[in-house]
Amino acid sequence: NVRVRFAPSPTGPLHIGGVRTALFNYLFAKKHNGTFILRIEDTDQNRYVEGAEHYIIDALNWCNMPFDEGPGKNERFGPYRQSERKHLYKQYADELIANGNAYYAFDTAETLDFHRKDHEAKGKTFIYNWHNRLKLSNSLSLSAEETQAKLDAGDDYVIRFKSPQDETLHLTDIIRGDIKIDTNVLDDKVLFKSDGMPTYHLANIVDDHLMEISHVIRGEEWLPSLALHYQLYKAFGWEAPEFAHLPLILKPTGKGKLSKRDGDKLGFPVFPLQWTDPKTNEVSRGYKEDGYFPDAMINFLAFLGWNPGTEQEIFNLEELIEAFDLEKVNKSGARFDPDKIKWFNHHYMQEQYNEDLAEAFKNSQVELSEIDVEYIALVVGLIKERATFVSDFWNLSHFFFTAPTSYDEKASKKALKEGTDAIMNQVISIINTIEDFTVENLQTEIKGWITSNDISFGKVMMPLRLALVGALQGPDVFDIMYMIGKNETVKRIENIVK
Ligand code: GLU
Repeated sequence: NVRVRFAPSPTGPLHIGGVRTALFNYLFAKKHNGTFILRIEDTDQNRYVEGAEHYIIDALNWCNMPFDEGPGKNERFGPYRQSERKHLYKQYADELIANGNAYYAFDTAETLDFHRKDHEAKGKTFIYNWHNRLKLSNSLSLSAEETQAKLDAGDDYVIRFKSPQDETLHLTDIIRGDIKIDTNVLDDKVLFKSDGMPTYHLANIVDDHLMEISHVIRGEEWLPSLALHYQLYKAFGWEAPEFAHLPLILKPTGKGKLSKRDGDKLGFPVFPLQWTDPKTNEVSRGYKEDGYFPDAMINFLAFLGWNPGTEQEIFNLEELIEAFDLEKVNKSGARFDPDKIKWFNHHYMQEQYNEDLAEAFKNSQVELSEIDVEYIALVVGLIKERATFVSDFWNLSHFFFTAPTSYDEKASKKALKEGTDAIMNQVISIINTIEDFTVENLQTEIKGWITSNDISFGKVMMPLRLALVGALQGPDVFDIMYMIGKNETVKRIENIVK
């Protein structure tokens, strides 16, 4: 019974790495007819950001990856916000103290700082664990009586996990295989604080257990916590879930981890949706608002760390679910290529209904407010092959809606020659004779006239295109003539004849 969770902390907008983690969880859940859970890890009140949870849910929905269980939905294992589960955690910390796997510590920030600096000065790293504490000739180690006295006096404390001495831990990760860790290099991590809040580690393990999570799929930055998490499961006597740590996402240069700030610096979004910082009002770009299709983003993100082992690159969500396999996820970092997502967007543009694109185009362009959406859809069908974004449409199609007001200089030089006027006048008379103004009839009549008079094709088609478009670009000339109609076609040709 596969149950996976996406467990973001609402400390800001979900960045692209978070969306990739959510995606891999989602794909794995759906592939195995499992459950995809959203859990909000908001135990760190200092880092809580207004609106972040809302943003996370909106982003998942935009990506078509709705959660099956989570805040406000199928709350069978709820609540799903850790702040609402606060009362649950203390008993688990107490349990670990009682069974000797955790202890109270009262060190002040200054004491810890002193030891860190003292070690540094000697060229060593300070590893905070109980056996090191015993070696230090200062207040770090306390007897049971001293501990109780301090608790009774109301001193600030933390509860720390008691890492075993001189043991080798054997950890398993689906992506990374077997990992061995010497427990002597591990810090005794804080599990609980006297403000009544658990730390990430305790809350995460308790919740994964209570929510019956079968597989933990998360970013590589959590790999260093794996040893502690394994030990926590053991200390509680619980069966641990399976783990899979996803590779880092690297900057476009391939050097270093992609950061939230890289997007603004390098000119591409790193967030799925636009985000306005509630404190500074600063706006960060989003893939949605930049004109990307969710399918394109999903297809692109799936390939950050995974590939099917074949040449196939285009996978919609259904196909990804079918093909996805954690065993095929790489260990090494995945380079983020902002041009590749454009390539995907161009592909998914072709798959959209012209009517939907037309609607979006109409809404984005004032010049189109009075134009029939059916007509716009026909235009879209003729030009979308050359577009990556809806925002490209106007440049590619304005001549379907308005006559050129100027003519490209180079194009004019190339297209307008001696004799052009006479040829264009001929074309006008041919057009006037065509009663049924279809693409086929236009083609037959004009091409027929060209061949039977042995005129070069360019001498007719170039000025014609210039008259219709204002430049030597655009889709098929006969399509344009048909679309704008007979009267408009004649008018435009007359405009270039002196
Ligand atoms: N709250 C953690 C985060 O923000 C979750 C890590 C995990 O999945 O265990 O990434």
